[in-house]
Amino acid sequence: MSDNTKLTFTPVIGIEIHIQLKTKSKVFCSCSADYTNDEPNSHICPVCMGLPGSMPVLNKSVIQQGMLAGMALNCTVQPTTYFFRKSYYYPDLPKNYQITQSDLPIAANGWLEIKDDAGNPKTIRINRLHLEEDVGKLHHSAADGRLEGAETSWVDYNRSGLPLAEIVSEPDVSSAREAVEYVTALRRRVRYAGASDVDLEKGMMRFDANVSVKCSDGRWGRRVEVKNMNSFRALERAIEYEIKRQSKILAEGGEVLQETRHWNDAKETTTASRVKEFYRKFIVEPDLPPLVVSPQWVEEVRGMLPEMPNEKAARYKEMGLSEIDAGVLTDSIDVAQYFEACVAAGANPLRAGNWVRTEVLRAVNDRQAGDRQVGEKQAGDRQFGVKDLPVKPDVLAELIRRIDDGKLSTTLAKNVFEGLLEGLSLDEAVKNSGAAEGGVNAGALEDLVSATLAANADVVGDIRSGKDTKGKKVKFLQGLIMRETKGQARPEEVAAAIESALANPENLK
Ligand code: ADP
Ligand code: MG
Ligand code: ZN
Repeated sequence: MSDNTKLTFTPVIGIEIHIQLKTKSKVFCSCSADYTNDEPNSHICPVCMGLPGSMPVLNKSVIQQGMLAGMALNCTVQPTTYFFRKSYYYPDLPKNYQITQSDLPIAANGWLEIKDDAGNPKTIRINRLHLEEDVGKLHHSAADGRLEGAETSWVDYNRSGLPLAEIVSEPDVSSAREAVEYVTALRRRVRYAGASDVDLEKGMMRFDANVSVKCSDGRWGRRVEVKNMNSFRALERAIEYEIKRQSKILAEGGEVLQETRHWNDAKETTTASRVKEFYRKFIVEPDLPPLVVSPQWVEEVRGMLPEMPNEKAARYKEMGLSEIDAGVLTDSIDVAQYFEACVAAGANPLRAGNWVRTEVLRAVNDRQAGDRQVGEKQAGDRQFGVKDLPVKPDVLAELIRRIDDGKLSTTLAKNVFEGLLEGLSLDEAVKNSGAAEGGVNAGALEDLVSATLAANADVVGDIRSGKDTKGKKVKFLQGLIMRETKGQARPEEVAAAIESALANPENLK
């Protein structure tokens, strides 16, 4: 073997994404699209079963959702497109052909901006977004005894005929990390547009990665299409695996074959598919007229598109928020809207951003985790979200105003917030927190705690490093503070203030 140590390998990656568009019914029939917890084959009819003589009728809301998703990805809507029959034979496809727009798509020539591995802005071009129908689902189980050594396969057609958008990128992606960033950004925008719930656990977003590797000596391997990925992690691992596999082949002077491979999640490897290419044949779907989208309709749909996350984040940064805060607050449109409502109700944007990013999101996460633990929610149920919080944005704005006016310390305000989460009104929650009951002014108590902790840094150090197993040192601090207030402070308030100061050293004055 020659001296290969100087060879370098540059990955070239294009990604195809299937997204289930959010509609009430399937794409060519009126069967319900929401089947998550239902019996297999309970959402079927002659059209989505592909029975002879049945006629597809295009669901208008699929076109609208496709346009919205395309616009969210900076694509241009195409005025006239056709549907084709893509023929192949498989038990999950009873008609033996899939109806798809293929490369005459509803939307084309889009782009998304991500950061490359060096942190610089990079544009990933999107070739097209085309509409098509989903296929059924196969379930395999151990043999039922009728055929020796065989496994039994079951087919569920509830998914057959669900509306999909296939989004095809240009080969502009250069690493597994970039791929994950691209699909993350794309998912966020499509969800903002309301075009899909893009729930990965429910299979509403699936990935194929086309991977090739260029060698510094000029050789360029053929592209390998890796199919079968339905999580960000699988996409990342599969691409990393392929880059390594192909680089090794090229380094050893071998040739990379153009093939379809499947990602095996359990083994974390890709394996060549036994069937290299399905037999494919396209004909225009004779049962569907050409799809013509008027300019008026395009403009109407454009008006439905909300402000996108990047634009929102840029605006938040102009309000003085940090890049990180702006990113967290715009990750979901519901959270962004909660924050904006808070600001609209008069809250200081920086403080509101901070409260939403910490307390509000923590409360939402706690509820989600709690729901998961007690199994209160079923797989198909909607997750608890910021909209479900009993604390409405205007109430949070009022709470923040009271901090700004010096009526509440941050520590007490957090207690008040807990009360609000339990459904109390603001006045009740304030009363409950003890803030109104005289004693020691909350702001003064916080200052006192800060000063005492600062003056006893060695004790604080011991507590932080876990040496205070019996809690004696905390009690010691508490005693010092009680003495300073001449017994005026309420012990539980002092304990809470110490705990909070220890947990949030950055809040120490
Ligand atoms: P096909 O029908 O073969 O899947 P598509 O046009 O639907 O063809 O998709 C091709 C995908 O392969 C696109 O995502 C594209 O970016 C990607 N691709 C094209 N050339 C390369 C290459 N040399 N290396 C990696 N990916 C590539
Ligand atoms: Mg393809
Ligand atoms: Zn149907």
